[in-house]
Amino acid sequence: MVKKIILLGATGSIGVQTTDIIREHPEEFKLVGFSAGRNMELAKKFIKEFHPEIVCVQNEQDANVFRGEFPRTAFVSGSAGLIETAVYEADVLVNAVIGSVGLEPTLEAIKLGRTIAIANKETLVTAGHLVMESTKRYGAAILPVDSEHSALFQSLNGEKIEQATKLILTASGGSFRDSTRDQLKNVTVKEALNHPNWSMGAKITIDSATMVNKGLEVIEANVLFNFDYDDIEVLLHRESIIHSMVEFRDTSVMAQLGTPDMRVPIQYALTYPERLERPNAKRLNLAEIGKLHFQEMDYERFHALQLAFDAGRTGGTMTTVLNAANEQAVAMFLNEEIKFLQIEEMIERAMYAHNPIPSPDLETILHVDSETRKTVQNMLK
Ligand code: NDP
Ligand code: MG
Repeated sequence: MVKKIILLGATGSIGVQTTDIIREHPEEFKLVGFSAGRNMELAKKFIKEFHPEIVCVQNEQDANVFRGEFPRTAFVSGSAGLIETAVYEADVLVNAVIGSVGLEPTLEAIKLGRTIAIANKETLVTAGHLVMESTKRYGAAILPVDSEHSALFQSLNGEKIEQATKLILTASGGSFRDSTRDQLKNVTVKEALNHPNWSMGAKITIDSATMVNKGLEVIEANVLFNFDYDDIEVLLHRESIIHSMVEFRDTSVMAQLGTPDMRVPIQYALTYPERLERPNAKRLNLAEIGKLHFQEMDYERFHALQLAFDAGRTGGTMTTVLNAANEQAVAMFLNEEIKFLQIEEMIERAMYAHNPIPSPDLETILHVDSETRKTVQNMLK
């Protein structure tokens, strides 16, 4: 049976790679709806190619232009439109938007018991407990797309999770893994956007350079697999071949390996528990690679990772603050308003100024999110 897919963030890096998979397997998948932000050219290309039933764009003006051009598709816009698209009848919702805008659409789809392939880690960081509690309550399913979490999920396949003792997340180290903190002082946006292993959207590439990405992933792992922060380890692994590992109580370690290609974990989330061909994809050739390298994480060099562990251990709204401060600071860095090291400095200041609220509800989270963004903006004044 053809699986109906709704794809939020179709015009982004993960979104485009998801459309590659749908295109490669027309007998398996049908794209019934998607959302785009402001990239109208690509949105138009996808409408012509996939003939979706519903499309959401960020601006109402753009929706209006499309309505005239494609009368058979329903067009919606803004955050209400994003929710409308997320709950549209389908078998799998792929959430590949960037940032905490993905939270409410996810929660609404969960209420309908949907299966959600989640790339949008900010949603899990800002409100992980709400997502997981309602996933349980409404019988929904969350499948990880992030390569590390897909690797953990695959390594746990068929195992008893209570017999697993440690999650080991691998980290490539990002664009500046060989730079000292001193060398980071004056790095440019262009240098930060140059990731050695992965080609990704701008925000996550900066997050990888600051190591905030790994921090968000530590929290994401805590949320998805319910492991204590003491039992989550980060290991520097330059080649990004081992995507993550799980250690069990008998000391066995299970790992998932592969060439760095996000289409593999995206596809697995779409086909789970089945596996499909990946036509023309590069196969892993360890003999060709020869050596894999591992190194202990330096928490002083990668201070932002320490901040994420601190936020996670504090819990409550502290992870919301970490995420919102980071989103705001990264936007300012990409806009060349602040320097690279100011990103983690602003996150730290925002966390320090915040009085965490335990077990926050959605309203509290949204409030703390927007207040934190203002706090960070005001740091420039
Ligand atoms: P991109 O920036 O490439 O794409 C983001 C998508 O979201 C685009 O479709 C964009 O629209 C849309 N969008 C942006 N802002 C808004 C908004 N305010 N409202 C509605 N839509 C919006 O991001 P990535 O694909 O890199 O990342 C997506 C998510 O996946 C992130 O959470 C990231 O952390 C995670 N992830 C990404 C990986 C990667 O390889 N890229 C790997 C693992 C996780 P438009 O471009 O049309 O404006
Ligand atoms: Mg990742």
